Amino acid sequence: MADSRSNRAAVQATNDDASASKLSCVKKGYMKDDYIYLFVRRPVRRSPIINRGYFARWAALRKLLVQFLNCDKDTDEKGHTKKQILSLGAGFDTTFFQLQGEGQAPHLYVELDFKEVTSKKAALIETCSLLRDKIGETASISQDKGEVLSDHYKLLPVDLRDIQNLDGIISLANLDPSLPTFIIAECVLIYLDPDSSRAIVGWASKTFSTAIFFLYEQIHPDDAFGQQMIRNLESRGCALLSIYATPSLLAKEKLFLDQGWQRAVAWDMLKVYGNFIEAQERRRIERLELFDEFEEWYMMQEHYCVAYAINDAMGLFNDVGFPIDQNMTGSSSAASP
Ligand code: SAH
Repeated sequence: MADSRSNRAAVQATNDDASASKLSCVKKGYMKDDYIYLFVRRPVRRSPIINRGYFARWAALRKLLVQFLNCDKDTDEKGHTKKQILSLGAGFDTTFFQLQGEGQAPHLYVELDFKEVTSKKAALIETCSLLRDKIGETASISQDKGEVLSDHYKLLPVDLRDIQNLDGIISLANLDPSLPTFIIAECVLIYLDPDSSRAIVGWASKTFSTAIFFLYEQIHPDDAFGQQMIRNLESRGCALLSIYATPSLLAKEKLFLDQGWQRAVAWDMLKVYGNFIEAQERRRIERLELFDEFEEWYMMQEHYCVAYAINDAMGLFNDVGFPIDQNMTGSSSAASP
């Protein structure tokens, strides 16, 4: 945990960047998010390529989340399993508030981040009735501690690299390791040192027997575009510390399988955009803005990926995930024997 204060602040600033980009998308009509504007002090307009990239990231996560939340819908009413979502390095992500607003929130939604970030988020939740109304009357909110504790939503401060602490967080948050759990790590693990990233993935596999671990982050550090991407982030003080340990789709899958996950799949965002996001949605958003940066779009999307891993003790996730298509290029899917 030998990071400098400025490095920690720089990584936290990527959260402000993400929030501003999401708001830019919302304003252009890419997606709906009635809450993100509350988290952005200075709204900015992003280029069409950035908007489209954020849309793809949002749509992929949303689709997998909805699959997870509905995966046992057909079982009888009483048997409907309680579900949990655990967001690592959640930043100012508003997914909980969106799901709650749509009546789709799971039994428990837990968000973890550095205390500097959770304190700001707790303060906003306390002061904005739009957010506060979503977490229920009996919630206890402490800006000082950077904590929100309510029946169905918890926000807690933690340094994710402090692995020994994570079990304590599980009990503090009232997470039940036996319940189906969706773990989100969106642009988080890549900023940690490889040992910590591996340890978190391994801890999650040991802890949750029926779970999906969702990862969205950069790949391919070695070509010209990758080198530039790394330099850009380094110049802002955020090194992608884990990128050389998992530089490819296969390496991301291996990260999970080596840490005990039953199945793992990684696709780059070009493939996710073309083969996972609904064609109708693509047609809709492709009409929103003039777009002629195709070459750069392809290159950028090849440098980001979604990887997910599955442990399925309860046998719930047969229909969750990317469509199976052996003939596609650029993908690899792997399963441990
Ligand atoms: N997942 C959110 C935010 C991404 S920005 C989204 O996709 O919008 C990365 C977030 O990870 C920041 O909020 C940062 O504070 C958090 N983070 C990075 N390293 C962390 C660590 N060691 N412990 C806790 N949070 C961390």
